[in-house]
Amino acid sequence: MPDARPNTIDCPQCGGASSLRSGERLLECEFCGAALFVDRSGAVGHYWLPRLLDAEKAQAALRRWMAGNDTVKDLDRKSKIESVEPVSFPVWMFRSRQGGGETAHIEPAAPTPIPQLADLEVPAGELQPFEEEPEGVDRLQATIPLETAREWLTQRGVTEVFETSLVQLPLWHCNYSYDGNAYQALVDGSTGAVMAAVFPEKAEAPYYLVAAVGLILFGIEGLVIQNPLAKLVAYAITGIPLALIAYWVARKV
Ligand SMILES: [Zn+2]
Repeated sequence: MPDARPNTIDCPQCGGASSLRSGERLLECEFCGAALFVDRSGAVGHYWLPRLLDAEKAQAALRRWMAGNDTVKDLDRKSKIESVEPVSFPVWMFRSRQGGGETAHIEPAAPTPIPQLADLEVPAGELQPFEEEPEGVDRLQATIPLETAREWLTQRGVTEVFETSLVQLPLWHCNYSYDGNAYQALVDGSTGAVMAAVFPEKAEAPYYLVAAVGLILFGIEGLVIQNPLAKLVAYAITGIPLALIAYWVARKV
């Protein structure tokens, strides 16, 4: 496609041709008022999810995640939240009719160190025409072209896309420290879901060790003891301390 842009752009909602000033990327359709975003490959609908969680609620969601089962024990008490900043993060949203039902797929429209972003569910019913958030909210630019996102989508095996749009997600970008290291996490400002790529994880090695010791002991007993009743008694005697050790490990890590 030649780079010479036409000075009008067709609205994907109503088909009306709105005039486009050079370099303009955000506009409102002159006919139906739809919020539009102009990419190299054309205009798409521009939406946002309203920010339902304030900084305090986002912080509470982060603490709940820290107290959960994926993170190291007592992370919620032993970490220090350094900052919680609002970010408006752009994603490309594709609706597909693949396999009968309609599904929505998301690809990031700006670079992100947190890959779970693509797994976020965007509740279609809650999308609203794009509105600029108040001052102080960092709106990241859509720097990943729509064509690139379409390629990723194809690689994921998604076809039969019938609608494409740009959605600004209301995220909270959190920095926290634990045990001398710095970490970051994103909190979805519409649902409270927490996304983090690197975080202090629960140590799994002790569990594997207990399981391995158990397998070896039960294996030896199974080979050495012939009498079935004696075998059961031996299993029970071995099993109780193993269970206690496992419980102790679970409390510790
Ligand atoms: Zn329109």
